[in-house]
Amino acid sequence: MVNSIADNLTHVRHRMEAAARQARRDHARITLVAVSKAMPGAFIREAFTAGQRDFGESYVQELKAKADLLTDLALTWHFIGHLQRNKAGHAAAVATTIHSLDSFPLAEALHQRATRPIDVFIEVNLGNEASKSGVATNALLPLARHVIALDRLRLRGLMGIPPFAADPEQSRPHFRRLRLLHDELQQKLGRELPDLSMGMSHDFEVAIAEGATIVRVGTAIFGERTAKI
Ligand SMILES: *Cc1c(COP(=O)(O)O)cnc(C)c1O
Repeated sequence: MVNSIADNLTHVRHRMEAAARQARRDHARITLVAVSKAMPGAFIREAFTAGQRDFGESYVQELKAKADLLTDLALTWHFIGHLQRNKAGHAAAVATTIHSLDSFPLAEALHQRATRPIDVFIEVNLGNEASKSGVATNALLPLARHVIALDRLRLRGLMGIPPFAADPEQSRPHFRRLRLLHDELQQKLGRELPDLSMGMSHDFEVAIAEGATIVRVGTAIFGERTAKI
């Protein structure tokens, strides 16, 4: 029997709480973003009914379509995919948070189009040769300085996706490195960056052990994506 979305959510939340307890962290400081890309609006409704409020999408068209379909729900949209500059306005109109800021021009486009403050994460390239998403570590400080000078963008922290490995322990050194980069950046900027967005279905417990404050979980809640996204 396939578990319901509500059951899956309960299970994921319990696993998050256990991971937080083991790391002696307050689980209330860790937010679950349910990644609903490639899933129908009905699934989002089901998760909402089960108490889930934060949802993540990777494609602007899909985000817009779902936001239009679900205007009656008081939910919070997170944009987590690669964002093109010419679509920044559409993403900023719907999402409260952009997890994938990776360039000056994109930061400027978001700032120009935003009609209210937008929370942003700078995505760091954690060494996955195949995916070029995220900034190189040497570009991080200049981009962060630029972002904090834009008053409609609120820099929350860093986001990263380790190269995929079946064993979640393989993600640990990447999460640790992101955490160190985050700490270093706070020092260099002389300001607090309150969040660290890292961990997905197969490795969110390791991410919590390494300091994640936001985990982005899709498959463990909604099941396997059949569409090739
Ligand atoms: C798809 C996606 C996720 C969720 O992945 P799962 O393995 O299904 O949990 C998280 N973060 C990003 C950036 C994604 O694109």
